Amino acid sequence: MQAAGSFPIGMPPQVLHMQSRQQKRPGRKDLHFLNDDGMVACNPRDREAAHRADVEGIATDNPYAVTCKKCRALLRRSRRAS
Ligand SMILES: [Zn+2]
Repeated sequence: MQAAGSFPIGMPPQVLHMQSRQQKRPGRKDLHFLNDDGMVACNPRDREAAHRADVEGIATDNPYAVTCKKCRALLRRSRRAS
């Protein structure tokens, strides 16, 4: 049996280290709830806040997506009828 093993196997099967980059999150921003007036629920009198939230994409009309504690509290309170 000829040892055909003179193969130039110089490279061990390197396990590619998958660099699972941590998801980029530009700071943790709370998601606020927009009420019927298009205002931020936790700051209903501040039109500027509503605009800002809208522009920054930190406002939602999905009550389940809201992460802002104040908004959630307000939502809970206003959901008594439903
Ligand atoms: Zn809020």
